[in-house]
Amino acid sequence: MLDHARPAPAPKVIRGLSGDWEMVIGMEVHAQVASAAKLFSAASTAFGAEPNSNVSFVDAAMPGMLPVINEFCVEQAVRTGLGLNAAIHRVSAFDRKNYFYPDLPQGYQISQLYQPLVGEGEVWVDMPGGTARRVRIERIHLEQDAGKSIHDMDPARSFVDLNRTGVALMEIVSRPDIRGPEEAAAYLSRLRQILRWLGTCDGNMQNGNLRADVNVSVCRPGAWERFMAGDRGALGTRCEIKNMNSMRFIQQAIEFEARRQIALLEDGGRVQQETRLYDPERGETRSMRSKEEAHDYRYFPDPDLLPLELDEDWIAAIRAGLPELPDARRARFVAAFGLSDYDAAVLTAERASADFFEAVAAGRDGKQAANWVINELFGRLNREGREIAESPVSAIQLGGLLDLLAAGTISGKIAKDLFEILWTEGGEPAAIVRARGMEQVTDEGAIEAAVAQAIADNPAQAEKARANHKLAGWFVGQVMKATGGKANPQAVDALVKARLGLD
Ligand code: ADP
Ligand code: MG
Repeated sequence: MLDHARPAPAPKVIRGLSGDWEMVIGMEVHAQVASAAKLFSAASTAFGAEPNSNVSFVDAAMPGMLPVINEFCVEQAVRTGLGLNAAIHRVSAFDRKNYFYPDLPQGYQISQLYQPLVGEGEVWVDMPGGTARRVRIERIHLEQDAGKSIHDMDPARSFVDLNRTGVALMEIVSRPDIRGPEEAAAYLSRLRQILRWLGTCDGNMQNGNLRADVNVSVCRPGAWERFMAGDRGALGTRCEIKNMNSMRFIQQAIEFEARRQIALLEDGGRVQQETRLYDPERGETRSMRSKEEAHDYRYFPDPDLLPLELDEDWIAAIRAGLPELPDARRARFVAAFGLSDYDAAVLTAERASADFFEAVAAGRDGKQAANWVINELFGRLNREGREIAESPVSAIQLGGLLDLLAAGTISGKIAKDLFEILWTEGGEPAAIVRARGMEQVTDEGAIEAAVAQAIADNPAQAEKARANHKLAGWFVGQVMKATGGKANPQAVDALVKARLGLD
């Protein structure tokens, strides 16, 4: 079922002393553009380099240096916009957001306030119980990242690392459509999935390449619906929790913040609009600064940069080059391979896993391919903490295994052994089976002999089985053991029953 055919999930409700409360969340996600060079300079964006080694004169704001827009970064932001079903603005412009910060040598950040590159879009977020939340995107703009101040290297001095200064960020701003901590985390992972799928951001949250400012307010049931119907004053005052880069902490921070605001309101107080920081050790948010009004930044169009004008053809070419997106691919997997929606969602969580599955399933039984990819391959990768790209078993090898299984050359039991060999030693599946004599015994005579032997060796057990037919299974196990798992279990079962005179 397509996401937009699903009902919305129920919002999270918190019971207060004075009745029920709900929460409203909007997120500003900063996604580092996957680009080798910075937004306005040719300096490298490589993570983990020696401090201040990736800094051009532009990044260091040397007098007279001029920014030059990196076309690739613009293209990545346009791809992102198209992937989020958003309007691409033919004309956008860069503005200076003025503020002083030791790790921002320009004294301003180049951003896009008035005319962002990308306008309204949407993301459908899968939620439990067959529901989906539509989160509207308000805008996506390009901006520079700031550098890093380091305060814990010396007791008396602070240091500045400008490697990050000038790296391109996409700020993806959502509408206040998210209705609980789980939805917030699900929205961010959905966004991460799409960005990684498009290849426009690597989504590495530990490295800070994807981080979110989370805006939280609380209201009474019904208020959000009134807001959605056009009553702009229906929502409560929000607080912004800055710079979150962990799904778990985001949920904890939202929960804490909503309860803090409810307690404040129920005590007769008012929520002050402000920026707060989450302290994971204490599990609480703390005030950082009251929110400056936009005009405090003295935004103005950057005179060093011309407005960005995009050719319709250029946008069309980017659109034509978009990959099949996760939702479409998931729906196709259901239709083409007869998979459950759940399995299709698991397989399309990452583009690399979808590609892997499709290579295995092509021309084969799709359901069986999905079972092997999900249960055997993903299961093993998860246990070993590896990515699909690091899988020791390739799609060609797994496909070869499935062919041997489908042809009846190997039994299901032996297929697992073969998988183990492929995983640990590698090799070509058919060659391994031949070399190690792993072929399934289909020769009825040989199986019959093993059955006769097992019954002759265990007369007491045979007697019990004749009295209670369910016990015949024990002989099937014996014969499978005797043939090293290579006999066809259905054939063994039939021959055991015949030999014991059952049915
Ligand atoms: P600003 O102009 O201060 O940046 P915006 O209107 O652009 O404010 O909103 C910033 C973010 O805050 C957006 O993600 C938006 O969805 C969210 N937001 C706005 N109002 C609320 C609210 N009442 N509760 C929760 N989030 C909100
Ligand atoms: Mg804003």
